[in-house]
Amino acid sequence: SNIFFRPIEKINAVIESYPKGIAGFKRYVEVLDTEPDIADVKDAVAVESIRGDIKFDKVTFGYEPGRDILSGIDLSIRAGETVAFVGPSGAGKTTICSLLPRFYDVTEGKITVDGMDIRGMKLQSLRKHIGIVQQDVFLFSGSIRENIAYGDLLATEEQIWDAAKRASLEDMIRQLPEGMDTIIGERGVKLSGGQKQRMAIARMFLKNPPILILDEATSALDTETEMAIQKSLSELSVGRTTLVIAHRLATIKNADRIIVVDENGIAEQGRHQDLVQSGGIYSRLHQAQYQHA
Ligand code: ATP
Repeated sequence: SNIFFRPIEKINAVIESYPKGIAGFKRYVEVLDTEPDIADVKDAVAVESIRGDIKFDKVTFGYEPGRDILSGIDLSIRAGETVAFVGPSGAGKTTICSLLPRFYDVTEGKITVDGMDIRGMKLQSLRKHIGIVQQDVFLFSGSIRENIAYGDLLATEEQIWDAAKRASLEDMIRQLPEGMDTIIGERGVKLSGGQKQRMAIARMFLKNPPILILDEATSALDTETEMAIQKSLSELSVGRTTLVIAHRLATIKNADRIIVVDENGIAEQGRHQDLVQSGGIYSRLHQAQYQHA
């Protein structure tokens, strides 16, 4: 499932301070800015820069009282590490990842970033350091340039092109008659699912956050697109703490650590090869996925 589409009213939360001039953007805010977000505590700290060490310390959380989805989760992720969350549908992989940008607050325990409880940070400053790439990419009606620059409104033309290249968008953009000025969205050029994802990746290269959450697409893309996207994503994750809600074998295999989540919490964790050999849940999931492929 999807980090943003459940708390849809909270999409605006990842929007930092954007000038009003950007086409389509204001409308977007008006639609989505329906609910006040989590309020900062009185002495909340604006975090300027972070390394990206993440720690879940006995984290318990439920969407409804009396029904905990996560219970006593302990997890340490080193700065720069890529971890892939795998496990059956509904186990709580998305939930774990959505607690980090504080779409919800833990009910017990705490989450720290660089040793600091995230509830003590100014929400906006926390989210500035977290990038999310997911299946349902938000694109507004405006030019390709504006849509990429949404990752950093102060970006220069050169930086925007650089981000487009790194996201494997360059060829597509150059083939369009209006190039970067091509209007996309409802009344413009329709992008394919793969192109939309690359737009999201390009934004992230611009935003350059130390922490990245990748909510992998469940719907299939053609193999070539898939490989191009994988390549861009692995380049994007270099030097960033990356949490992947994983559905694809390729990402999982290359992760520094695989975390298997089931209805009881973290069932096992380790590298691909070790987990395959240990003959536990992961080795069975892995076998099942191979049979499908
Ligand atoms: P998938 O692989 O299908 O995306 P997942 O492992 O990411 O699953 P979650 O999406 O985190 O699992 O869901 C964990 C549990 O929490 C499920 O039982 C789900 O029904 C429930 N849940 C998720 N979002 C909400 C919500 N907004 N309100 C209430 N319950 C929710």
